[in-house]
Amino acid sequence: MKIIAVGASVTGLAAAAALADAGHEVLLVEREAVDPPSTLDEAADGWARPTVPQAAHSHAFGSRGTNLLRDRLSDVYEALLAAGAGTVNLADYPPPMLGDFERKPEDDDLNMLTVRRSVFEWVLRERALSRPGVSVRSGATVRGLLTDGGSVTGVRLADGAELTADLVLDTSGRKSSAHQWLAAAGLPVPEQTSESCRITYYTRYYRRLTPAPPGPLNRGFGAGGLWDSYTAVLFLGDKDTFSISLGVLPDDKEMKALRTEEAFTAAIRATPLLAGWVAPGNSEPISPVYAMGGLDNSSRLADPGGDLPVGFYGLGDAVCTTNPAYGRGVSLALAHVFELVDLLAAHPAVDRGQAAKFAGASKALLAPWLGESIANDRGRAGLWEATVAGERPQQPPPGVVTFGAVVAASTKDAEIWRRVAQVMMSLVSPAELYANDEIKQRVGRALAGGPPPQLPGASRADLVAAVRAAGGATEQAA
Ligand SMILES: Cc1cc2nc3c(=O)[nH]c(=O)nc-3n(C[C@H](O)[C@H](O)[C@H](O)COP(=O)(O)OP(=O)(O)OC[C@H]3O[C@@H](n4cnc5c(N)ncnc54)[C@H](O)[C@@H]3O)c2cc1C
Repeated sequence: MKIIAVGASVTGLAAAAALADAGHEVLLVEREAVDPPSTLDEAADGWARPTVPQAAHSHAFGSRGTNLLRDRLSDVYEALLAAGAGTVNLADYPPPMLGDFERKPEDDDLNMLTVRRSVFEWVLRERALSRPGVSVRSGATVRGLLTDGGSVTGVRLADGAELTADLVLDTSGRKSSAHQWLAAAGLPVPEQTSESCRITYYTRYYRRLTPAPPGPLNRGFGAGGLWDSYTAVLFLGDKDTFSISLGVLPDDKEMKALRTEEAFTAAIRATPLLAGWVAPGNSEPISPVYAMGGLDNSSRLADPGGDLPVGFYGLGDAVCTTNPAYGRGVSLALAHVFELVDLLAAHPAVDRGQAAKFAGASKALLAPWLGESIANDRGRAGLWEATVAGERPQQPPPGVVTFGAVVAASTKDAEIWRRVAQVMMSLVSPAELYANDEIKQRVGRALAGGPPPQLPGASRADLVAAVRAAGGATEQAA
């Protein structure tokens, strides 16, 4: 089959590689005109991505995606290891409070890759484009669809050129204009929903100078914590690199200064869990501080029972985004890609039946994670808003199992820890954590004696003081 994918980033490249392996021909149409740096080293340190701002931010590569790469795009997986990516199994890093942690066979699935996103994407691109049948047209912006009745038969580019295909994939990411293209073509437009994640991220990259990690790795693939007005996470990368991201409320005026290197460093030094990583002599910064806001939990998932266009499928961020704090975007995009690959094998005719099946599979895959992300963001943002306003946070209704409660309980009960890890790694449905009676009872028992000690973070007062002392807060906030 001849397939066009609109957008040559993670989802488009993975789709192209997997579809080519299944015998299809894929043309990637990418609006960015500048080709990536020609060598991996150049790309790793300085691949400017004006159309993909999140590429500059910390990325964790969760188990679902890691295992899919290992099992179904094994040349990509091997090439990532050769490029310096590390592998981590989370069951090798259980919380110390669990004591003698007994490994179970299913823990073998808790794998992650530790690698910078620039390296990940450069390797994925190199492997995808090495396949016969995959090509890319750069500097080409899709502006509309070619149609025949209710079917999509190709795309129209900004320069007026028309490209035809048997199937068109929207892999154009979170800012997809597909709803406009569909509406202009008189085709059914899926309902769009969007709710702010209520978080802004600040990220900086570093190179480690010490032979061993200069601080704790409480998450195995990195370190991190969630406190009452901010989150701070450190992700290990390839070749002794690591990144640190701070997340705060978008309207937290005191924290606007985090975009300056001084205030960013001061906030990390005020966070005991991570302070050692940026202590003088332990690491050196290798990037400026990047900021990104405007993040939504969004859906453009089609109703499988509704009227659907034929021959046009959205994949990855183009149909669903969740808060990056949960690190699921790449895993879910890869899982979505393989839903399509398997569907095309089982049901090769591009028709209404195929469209309904794909809409059903997409909803079943993505809707639970969207729901979880929305629920967790509301709880976390409520806590942060109350803290910033100097108020007491509202308690969740009795009987409701929250993210905060399961994370706290996971340090005391190995079964809860395992389930939290499986859900965070997108391996097991969120209902198995938040709506499972056995887990609910275990959480109740684990927290009966009070919550475990908090990870060492900064109080709100200490964080504000550190950022103010670094200068800039007052003028930034003004
Ligand atoms: C701050 C942040 C941190 C994140 N951290 C993580 C993480 O830790 N782990 C994780 O798994 N995920 C993470 N994510 C999510 C992850 O980055 C996305 O899921 C992933 O980038 C989606 O890839 P994509 O290919 O679908 O879209 P994108 O990467 O956005 O790419 C879309 C591509 O389409 C092209 N394009 C757009 N419109 C057109 C057009 N009209 N014509 C032609 N080309 C077009 C763009 O130029 C771009 O190349 C994070 C996201 C953010 C915002």
